Amino acid sequence: MKLEKKIDRFTKDQTRNWELARKNYADLGSIEKRNFVFDGFRVVAQFNPGRIRSSAAKTDRTSISERPCFLCKANRPEEQLGIDFQGKYEILVNPYPIFEQHLTIVGYEHVPQHFDGRLRDMLALAEALPEFTIFYNGPKCGASAPDHFHFQAGQKGAMPVELELNDLLKSNAELLVSLPSTQVFALAESYLRKLIVLQSTDQGELVLLVEKILQLLPQNETDDEPMMNVLVNFDGAQWQVLLFPREKQRPCQYFREGREQILMSPASVEMGGLAILPRKEDFEKITKADLADIYKQVSLNDEAFNRIKAKIRND
Ligand SMILES: [Zn+2]
Repeated sequence: MKLEKKIDRFTKDQTRNWELARKNYADLGSIEKRNFVFDGFRVVAQFNPGRIRSSAAKTDRTSISERPCFLCKANRPEEQLGIDFQGKYEILVNPYPIFEQHLTIVGYEHVPQHFDGRLRDMLALAEALPEFTIFYNGPKCGASAPDHFHFQAGQKGAMPVELELNDLLKSNAELLVSLPSTQVFALAESYLRKLIVLQSTDQGELVLLVEKILQLLPQNETDDEPMMNVLVNFDGAQWQVLLFPREKQRPCQYFREGREQILMSPASVEMGGLAILPRKEDFEKITKADLADIYKQVSLNDEAFNRIKAKIRND
């Protein structure tokens, strides 16, 4: 049986027989959303109280070392089953969903969230699951279990960026590299986030180019990799890699108090234009200006991004 068909049966089964998943996926149907229209794109705010555990997750070393890892098999609920992928990963149903189909793809080993050496697996997953977008949150860019390697996946088109990208690439992007099998673009500044897009039919060439670009991204001395979120999908012929270089884990609004606080902790999904707000008050009060400000803070600064673009173009 094809993996996608297996996953389809598996998710139906899990959301029928596992009470936590059943309830949370049923609740998703009545979830509240707000649309914010910008110039040529939109941001959708989603009020999702179940995500508080992720948005407010303490990801510092001490907090992580003091809690049992919820992605290790030994600590997972008995009802949570998995499907093997190439003997390296187990595909699970995420019990706190953002999308109607939300998977967590967990490495078998308890090893830290680290992108190096994982891109080929990500491309293979996208190819095996062409109805899904696979995403990676860096250890300081939204991963709530930075101690256990994992990807996530959601059904294609669930994030605004996926629906807007074709138009944006035509009207509002800069072509940095054009090879017979691969193109690299950078989205214009007006997109609020910094975004590099690679489209390729050649897996080897794509891997080399992504690795080259990652080397150009600035990295904090104490970190093991540049701060980033990565989205990958496959359309039957071509892979698409969306790379969001980051500046900060969380915006200043996250740390404020009282009315001034907005509990939004940007990860891949937020960078993709779907802003998850676990608190009702934030969902109600957040404005276009807040969203623009939050994206600006957590995205790589203009100067570094311009430098990287110039290097990609000239290489
Ligand atoms: Zn673990």
